[in-house]
Amino acid sequence: MNNPIPKVGFVSLGCPKATVDSEHILTRLRAEGYLISDTYKDADLVVVNTCGFIDSAVEESLDAIGEALAENGKVIVTGCLGAKGDVVKQAHPKVLAVTGPHATDEVMEAVHQHLPKPHDPYMDLVPAQGIRLTPKHYAYLKISEGCNHRCTFCIIPSLRGDLVSRPVGDVMQEAQNLANAGVKELLVISQDTSAYGVDVKYRTGFWGGRPLRTRMTELAEALGTLGVWVRLHYVYPYPHVDEVIPLMAQGKILPYLDIPFQHANQRILKLMKRPGNSDGVLARIKKWREICPELVLRSTFIVGFPGETEEEFEELLDFIEEAQLDRVGAFAYSPIEGALANDLPDHVPPEVQQERLARLMWLQEEISEEKLKLKIGKKLTVLVDEVDEEGAIARSFADAPEIDGQVYIVDGQHLKVGDKVDVVITDSDTHDLWGELV
Ligand code: SF4
Repeated sequence: MNNPIPKVGFVSLGCPKATVDSEHILTRLRAEGYLISDTYKDADLVVVNTCGFIDSAVEESLDAIGEALAENGKVIVTGCLGAKGDVVKQAHPKVLAVTGPHATDEVMEAVHQHLPKPHDPYMDLVPAQGIRLTPKHYAYLKISEGCNHRCTFCIIPSLRGDLVSRPVGDVMQEAQNLANAGVKELLVISQDTSAYGVDVKYRTGFWGGRPLRTRMTELAEALGTLGVWVRLHYVYPYPHVDEVIPLMAQGKILPYLDIPFQHANQRILKLMKRPGNSDGVLARIKKWREICPELVLRSTFIVGFPGETEEEFEELLDFIEEAQLDRVGAFAYSPIEGALANDLPDHVPPEVQQERLARLMWLQEEISEEKLKLKIGKKLTVLVDEVDEEGAIARSFADAPEIDGQVYIVDGQHLKVGDKVDVVITDSDTHDLWGELV
């Protein structure tokens, strides 16, 4: 006899923001009493959360949908690829429903239609912190969806729409639930974290009976009271970013800023239509470091943007040399279908792009190596991500999961994932550190 409780299979592709969408849908499914199946065969229906950012992601998403259709037959598609016109329906006309990203209600509607809701919801089976796809000791906290900017290399606003900030009370409740459930680190994400609240004119909400403004500084300060690490991602260099630096100096949130500069030359930044004013960025970085000497800066850059001259690229190298950023991700510009920058003149030949990318990364590697060397002999608190017979792999405040470096604890075999311990740094290389327990 078939199990009377309907089972939903779930495939989650894409970036951390898509992961958060998946978590919300999974939480709703479990809240309503659906079971989650690990296999296509065992599921009564499959939801595929897609990514549509670059061409290879589109392909991966279409393949995943094809596989789910072949193995199961009943498929609902959500996520960024779903927002790209008829791409999904054209490739896979048999899918039951297609929604864009951040569409939990629409996905649930489609699930109800094709796999009716069980009679008796198992509300008590759902933990208050919801269902998460990241490891137990850290979690992404999405504070808003969409973006009001129109950077010419990006199609996110056309996929996800304008900025919509989540109510600050809801964000804080989720953060509190996560902390209560044992999460040790919250990674604040959005398309544009420093714009949090702009759409609601920084409305005052409530948390724990107290008024709280829907604004990055106030949110960061409130998150800082939860007793867990708080890491800010995708922060644009607006003037009010200066306000969070003292919170970092006081140890309320991690002294870590992920701040995508993308370029240093004014003309290229203008062609990119980047938000914020990059004037005086170096002076601001200097001031931030005076207030919070520990501050770790991560940034991303695009090289070989259409029209970038050798001189303009060299200006970017000078900036990198001067700024001494801790972590840098760099990409050669690649045209994304639908992005305005594709129509700009003077595209840089791929071999020149690759040569510039290599020069930038080479310079950054030297900077990183030197900066990490300075940590030898210092004591750092680290959070353990993995343990095996060779020791433990952990991260300090300076390392976000998956994108930054790691701290290898050579005598950490007995530690547990999620432990926070102190180590003394004994060695370093270009990206990582080695240490021993104190
Ligand atoms: S700020 Fe620019 S790059 Fe970031 S999501 Fe908005 S449009 Fe895209």
